[in-house]
Amino acid sequence: MAGRATPVMQQFAAAKEAHPDSILFFRMGDFYEMFEDDAVLCAKLLDLTLTSRNKGKADEIPMAGVPHHAAKSYVSRLLAMGHKVAICEQMADPSTVKGIVPREVVRVLTPALVTEQEHLEAGQNNWLAAIDIAIAGVGVALLDLSTGEFMAAQLADVDSALSELARMSPREVLVGSSEVAAEAAVRSVKSLDLFLPASGAGSDAPVRQDAPLGEEEAVTTLGTLTSDADAFGPAAQRAAARALRFARVCNPRAELPIPRITEWEPTSQLILDETTQTHLELVRSMAGDRKASLLGIIDLTSTAPGARLLRRRLLAPLMDVDRIRRRHQGVAVFVERALLRERLRNCLGKMGDLERLATRAVLGDATPRDLGAIRDGLRIAREAVALLGEIDSSAERELVGIAEPPDTLDELADTLARALVERPPAQTKESGIFLAGFDEQLDELDELRKNGSERITALEAELREEQGIPNLRVRYTRVFGWYVEVSRSYKGTVPDDWRRKQTVAAGERYTMPALDDLAHQIESAQERHRERELELLREMVARVAEAGERIRELARRVARWDVNAALAEVAHRHDYVQPVVEASGQFVVKAGRHPVVEQLAAQGRFVPNDVTLSCDEVRLHLVTGPNMAGKSTLLRQVALIAILAQMGSFVPAESATLGVVDRVLSRVGASDNVARGESTFMVEMRETASILKHATRRSLVILDEIGRGTSTFDGLAIAWAVAEYLDDAIGCRALFATHYHELTQLAAKSKHVANFSVSARELDDEIVFLHRVVPGAASRSYGVQVARLAGLPEPVLARARMLLEVLEAGQGKTPAPPAVEPVAGSGAEESANEAAPVIAQGQGPWNKPGQLAMFADAPPEPFSEEAAEALQLLRACDVDNTTPMQALRMLVRLKKKL
Ligand code: ADP
Ligand code: MG
Repeated sequence: MAGRATPVMQQFAAAKEAHPDSILFFRMGDFYEMFEDDAVLCAKLLDLTLTSRNKGKADEIPMAGVPHHAAKSYVSRLLAMGHKVAICEQMADPSTVKGIVPREVVRVLTPALVTEQEHLEAGQNNWLAAIDIAIAGVGVALLDLSTGEFMAAQLADVDSALSELARMSPREVLVGSSEVAAEAAVRSVKSLDLFLPASGAGSDAPVRQDAPLGEEEAVTTLGTLTSDADAFGPAAQRAAARALRFARVCNPRAELPIPRITEWEPTSQLILDETTQTHLELVRSMAGDRKASLLGIIDLTSTAPGARLLRRRLLAPLMDVDRIRRRHQGVAVFVERALLRERLRNCLGKMGDLERLATRAVLGDATPRDLGAIRDGLRIAREAVALLGEIDSSAERELVGIAEPPDTLDELADTLARALVERPPAQTKESGIFLAGFDEQLDELDELRKNGSERITALEAELREEQGIPNLRVRYTRVFGWYVEVSRSYKGTVPDDWRRKQTVAAGERYTMPALDDLAHQIESAQERHRERELELLREMVARVAEAGERIRELARRVARWDVNAALAEVAHRHDYVQPVVEASGQFVVKAGRHPVVEQLAAQGRFVPNDVTLSCDEVRLHLVTGPNMAGKSTLLRQVALIAILAQMGSFVPAESATLGVVDRVLSRVGASDNVARGESTFMVEMRETASILKHATRRSLVILDEIGRGTSTFDGLAIAWAVAEYLDDAIGCRALFATHYHELTQLAAKSKHVANFSVSARELDDEIVFLHRVVPGAASRSYGVQVARLAGLPEPVLARARMLLEVLEAGQGKTPAPPAVEPVAGSGAEESANEAAPVIAQGQGPWNKPGQLAMFADAPPEPFSEEAAEALQLLRACDVDNTTPMQALRMLVRLKKKL
């Protein structure tokens, strides 16, 4: 800006300097103005007219503005795009200030730090995440200003931290490091396109580089939020301090509604990385539809805190058998008590978001309507407690979480009930908040406001009587205001403290203290009524704010009942069963169903299937079958049943016994992964690599047509090697869907591998999908029939059938396969040893090279005679006993033949 900036522009410059990475909304009268780069940016983003200040002068600068009453929607749009907005207000009424109005940044709004309902998703936490990367570990902190939750954990590495972020779907991420050595990691996280599938609009969460944090600063920032900061580990402590510092800088004028920081233990939760979450369509379908996700099916909660809790449980299932069982038992109570469930759900259905309402009160932002919603919420909570009180078994009371009755804040609830009108106004600027009878002073002012003329009549009567002047009248004119008029004959009899105002034909006009008083009261009643109302509102908000944490605690208790009742309702409506959860390597599901497909695509005609996996017996299922048979559905169904069970829900099956899993890893082959817009082989392999790296013996792995992203042989070779590694080196429970029929030979080689196929029947060249899983490999793929279903023209189908016959005939003639060196070298063995001790008992090619007969049924090509001869030569060659010289000579001969 030019050196001779005006005082106002100096103010702007100072505010902007304090918040360089925010868009500054600078209040000027009825507008928020943006200047310089902010103006240019906002004009583009918000479609505003770009003007300029001091047009045509040397210090001309770009400017754009929005009317203050419309600012909210503009701010929302900027936040949705990931921007920060600093609100710089006028701190005094310009009419009362001489010279320049003081201005101050009162709040910085960022996507993660908004608390207004319209910016928030009811069923989802609004997390701010902070990561602190150190050599010793990675700290992750999560803070939800709208609910007051704040937690931190220290994880082993950046990968684990990102996995947690994917699970929590923060709206905004801060990344920093205090160690120069970890700077590279910070950069890698920052440059990572953190695609967070479950976040608000499915948009990217902005990732911000956080400023350095002093050594002492971490501890002092956390201050009284924890009595034992050291319990968190240094990186977790720093991450927490970063989150808190950010929140404080953005809310300089408010006491943050964060009572404490808790330690959260991602390690006690089943791990679901981002790809798995996406592939299993846990919270949204691949196409982005929420209703067609698992959450969409099971979210029958009645309250917003309940919906958030359910979502969190779904994305962070437990691993502790006892805790999981207790959750199931809690659900079971409501499954059995159908009437109670229905009454509870009806009752909770009318409840507002107590948790966030209380937070707004703590921040001083609660509107009269918010208070009304808190009053209603407290009343409903009390009703719910009474309902649950009907449970007479103490064991069940314990399971449902009512053994200890919650603090229902009865006193506050009563006060609010006595204070507020049925429907308080939405905005503070509207009047009519309090009930008559709540506050004497307010009632009086209201009385004055409304009944001024009656009070005047009363005074008139009083004066007549007192003075004995029957025709005394109290009147009002605009010019003179209120006066008492007496006829001339009484002129001399009025008391001394009456002052004469005017003489008219009819008599004398006076005024006196009592009348002045009343007149003044009437005139200012309106104003004073408003003031008193606002005063009472502030008091009320303060009382609610003081009880903020107790209210939120109550909301969380209610949320747990809500989730239990909702899951029971799901079990009832969709016919789910209580699973048996144990610490074993079993996975036995009878008549299991896919919870989403059975409700949506295959409503009423879903074919249930059994699946039995066992770490010690058959642990890897190879699933073959034609396209559209239901392979992917089966695979996902198995994974979803495990997740449902471990989150504490009943499951869609006739019966289920599940040994807890520590990780669900699900991958889908590149060409099946169209919805993500990624089809490269590289992506597929990176994902496969991460499975092999992370899977343990207790994991459940779902691989859907891995290897599709490359040519047939490459793909088959990789699929084969991956399947073998899963079986031999890891020994986890796994389902592997594949269109490589060659792979089904694996079952003959390992007693832990079995073939299954999803059946289809051919009827007059038409294919009928039975969706039934049967033992054994599929005999053929029915590709041509599926192509016909899809509407390929008849000539093309006829040609395809012909080619298929040729190819199939050729296949029979393919002679025995050559011996092949093992695909993986010592590296695989190394990591295998790390991953699981199972390798010691393994019998696969990892230990015994030279057994990989994988191309026995490789699709043949129509060979020329020369080529056939060349092949003959190759087959005859004994590689183990061939010298390099011989090999070279042979190569020359081969080339000649071809
Ligand atoms: P694949 O992976 O074998 O190509 P999918 O699992 O994608 O087949 O299933 C194709 C369609 O078949 C699904 O969209 C679903 O509508 C239907 N389907 C799959 N499994 C079943 C089942 N068990 N019962 C009824 N319909 C099913
Ligand atoms: Mg499929």
